Amino acid sequence: MTVLRSGSASVVGRVRAVNEDLSLESLTLFAVADGMGGHAGGEVAAYTAMEALQREFARQPTVQGLVGAVRQANQAVWSRSNEDPDLRGMGTTLTAAALVATEEGDRLVLANVGDSRSYRLHDGELTQLTRDHSQAQELLDRGELSEAEAAVHPHRHILTRALGVAPDVDVDVWLVAPEVGDRYLLCTDGLSNEVSSQRINGVLSSTPDPQEASDALVRIANEHGGNDNVTAVVLDVLVSDGLPAGAVGRVGVAPLGDSPGLARAPVAGPEPAAPPGRAEVDEASPARALLGRFGADAASGMRHMTRRAEEVQHHLRTRRVTFRVLLFLLVLAALAAGAVAAVRWYVDSSYFVQMHRGQVVVYRGRLGGFVGMEPRAVWRTGVPADQVPAVELPKVDHGVEESSLRGACNYVVNLTQEEAALQRAASATTVPVTTTTGPATSKPPLPSPGAPATPPTGAVPTLRLPKGCR
Ligand code: MN
Repeated sequence: MTVLRSGSASVVGRVRAVNEDLSLESLTLFAVADGMGGHAGGEVAAYTAMEALQREFARQPTVQGLVGAVRQANQAVWSRSNEDPDLRGMGTTLTAAALVATEEGDRLVLANVGDSRSYRLHDGELTQLTRDHSQAQELLDRGELSEAEAAVHPHRHILTRALGVAPDVDVDVWLVAPEVGDRYLLCTDGLSNEVSSQRINGVLSSTPDPQEASDALVRIANEHGGNDNVTAVVLDVLVSDGLPAGAVGRVGVAPLGDSPGLARAPVAGPEPAAPPGRAEVDEASPARALLGRFGADAASGMRHMTRRAEEVQHHLRTRRVTFRVLLFLLVLAALAAGAVAAVRWYVDSSYFVQMHRGQVVVYRGRLGGFVGMEPRAVWRTGVPADQVPAVELPKVDHGVEESSLRGACNYVVNLTQEEAALQRAASATTVPVTTTTGPATSKPPLPSPGAPATPPTGAVPTLRLPKGCR
């Protein structure tokens, strides 16, 4: 019987726009992933890997099961990146710790691919258990760099191994006996790059609550620069079986809730296990901590995924939808703008001449308007109906279309010239018969003083042609 207690924290940092890290805390499986890749690639890779890891490990919660789960996680990320061109080339680190039962007793299995890390704090000493799969680490291993040089090496971020970049992956695995009082840390490089291991040790040694320790670590990394996403999972061994070698240990999944397993478990370490039925009220007991953290999920086994993961999944879904909707709206807007422009062009490329309130007006637009685009008057000619030849008047009343402004102007000028010529001809032929017509009607009205002079009969009126007509 082994009882673990955990806490975790993850922040986006002060430089990055999205958090591509992910943490996982369940009853027996804990992990961090640091995704990478353009678009949503990093988030998708980390999430896909975590989901596969959890699902596959649940099917086979053993040492081999964890290794298989990591390889399945690799497969899942790899095939997803090949399905979606947007996600091509994505990948993720993965560092996992799982509690399993072995012939020798309960063990913690650590698995690692990439440059996320796991540390163990044992008797006040912090040791890095995993080995980074980075270029800096390789140079370090070959003796070409010192620890201090490797920590600032420009290639320290370049991974030599990651999940999802090839169809299969080698997984580094460690098996550790859980000892009461030991504390494990899983973290992404956002923590290890910003905070020295001495400082990490200091925080872990002085903060008993794993959640508070996780929070403190990511906060410090953020304050130190926060150049990357920062994620930490802190895992405490509260109870350990101490079964003799060869005995089959028990994994702390089944004995939760009202199972008697927990109460029967041997008590070790500084905090006593709760008696049956009292687990829920005993604040100090490790059982209380577990029940408090996992609640009803405990009964259904490892179904607990951190809220972060669910948020990421939701976020990815909504972001994708939002993006598609946005794209659709943009295309729609472009089409609409194009249609409006085409109609505008069609409407603006035509003119007509029409009588309006007793004068000839040149309009730009379509006669009678077109899909809500009203014609605009471009030239109020001041030419009255009686300066338009009578035969043309019905046409002008109705409206005469012209394909250009110049054409419309010419039409108006021609009308006035035609009418002037007609009037000259009429006055020449009607002079001898003036007696038959009343003098009052044959004479043009006298101009009133100060008013603009009305052109005499037969004179071509002076028109103020607008620009574009001259
Ligand atoms: Mn990172």
